[in-house]
This record gives sequence, C-alpha cells and structure tokens, in this order.
Amino acid sequence: MQLELDQLWLDQTLSSAQMLIAGPCSAESEEQLLTAAHALKALQNIKFFRAGVWKPRTRPNCFEGIGVPALGWLQKVKQETNLKIIIEVATKYHVEQAFKHGIDALWIGARTTANPFAVEEIARAVEGTDIPVFIKNPINPDLSLWLGAIERFQIRGITKIMAIHRGFSTFATSKYRNDPMWKIPMELKRLHPELPIICDPSHIGGTRELIAPLSQKAYNLGFNGLMVESHPTPDTALSDAKQQVTPQVLAS
Ligand code: PEP
Ligand code: MN
Repeated sequence: MQLELDQLWLDQTLSSAQMLIAGPCSAESEEQLLTAAHALKALQNIKFFRAGVWKPRTRPNCFEGIGVPALGWLQKVKQETNLKIIIEVATKYHVEQAFKHGIDALWIGARTTANPFAVEEIARAVEGTDIPVFIKNPINPDLSLWLGAIERFQIRGITKIMAIHRGFSTFATSKYRNDPMWKIPMELKRLHPELPIICDPSHIGGTRELIAPLSQKAYNLGFNGLMVESHPTPDTALSDAKQQVTPQVLAS
C-alpha cells in the first residue's frame, strides 16, 4: 500500500538537511517555555517547538503534566517566537483542546500507538482536518502495530504524517533506555519509502551523552530529522531530567 501523503507540505517541512523538533519533555511553567523557545528559535532548522502537556507516567503520583493551562502558555510561545507548536495527544479531549488553542501539530506517544482503541479515537477526532500527525513507534517492538496506527490516520484522511523512532522496551540489559532496534524503522522505511521518519534520540538514549552519537547514527541511516528534548535547566526538569539538554548544548 502506497501512503497518500501531502508531498508539498513534507517537502517544505523537510527543507533543511535535518529537520528538528525541540523543546522540553514537559511544559512546567510559562517562564520555562518562553526561555526554552526563545533560545531554540535561533536554531535554523527548528520546525516545531515541542512540550508535553499531559504526561503518560509509568507510575501514579508523579508529575502528570499541567494540562489545559499549559496550552495558553504555548499560545504565548507561538505569538512571541513564531515557532509552530506540537504536543502529545492521547484522547479525543486532548485533540479538542489542542484545536481550541491553535496547536499546529500533534504527536502520538509510544504507549498510545500500542493501543488501537486509543489510536482510533484520536484518528476520528482529527478526521476532516489537515493537522500534521507524528506517530511514535509503539513501546513494544511490533512493526505491524506502528503501521496500523499510521494506517488509521490515513484512513481518516490525514496526509501530513511522519513516523518517529523512539526505541523499544526490552528486558535485555542495554545502555539505552529504549533499545533502538534499527532494523525495525529501516524496515518501515523499506515498506514506505515515501513516509519520512525522524529519530528521537532523547527517549532512545535516556542520557545526555547518548544524544549526539544516536543523532549521528540516525543521520547516517538516512533519517529525515530529529526530535530532541531541550530544557533551560535540565537538572531541575519535572520529567526525563537525565536526557534533556540545554538549548545551548543542542545548538553545539
Ligand atoms: C515524550 O515525548 O516526552 C514521551 C512521553 O515520549 P514516548 O511516548 O516516546 O515515551
Ligand atoms: Mn520525555
């Protein structure tokens, strides 16, 4: 099956050698978002500013995101910096709130991609719009599940689709937080050469040191871009502190 994609939009979005999505794991405060965004705006290949508004945490009673008030902060980021905004959505309600607040693009998190009911609900919620949707691989190493999520959005008429490789859960001991299992995204690329794939070295690596080598590897393998978590003060981040880098480190 050939994917029907919006080639013009893809060409424009991928116009730089490595298109970049960057921003903090989670939206924590208006000041944190504005500081990060003003610094990241200087990176010439940045195409979207990311921030998690609702966080899918493994255990309860952790920081689970600010929710709707953070969408107002992101609107201000957009006004002040002109950056396009992308957030994670996992329910129909998230999609409705994203539209209400002028969010430019959506990403589907790894836990959500693994759940066809959730993917179907989101795909129905975006039906009839032309919002770009970035689809992370499922947490488990199952290419069909990843393809299935992509197809569900395609069936609902979404044509601005990209895949995001963020690695896979495994019991094996590994230096990675999520094992890259590069053969899986490369097989997706072989089956769908028309579908751009970007790499999320932050969630694959889980530590700052691994971001540069993983980004290089993705570049060597012909990935179309990167999604990298960047926080003004990574050590104080409320989620994924170990893997976030400052905008200055990211630039270098
Ligand atoms: C994230 O991007 O912060 C996130 C929760 O990612 P993933 O779905 O890849 O775990
Ligand atoms: Mn994160």
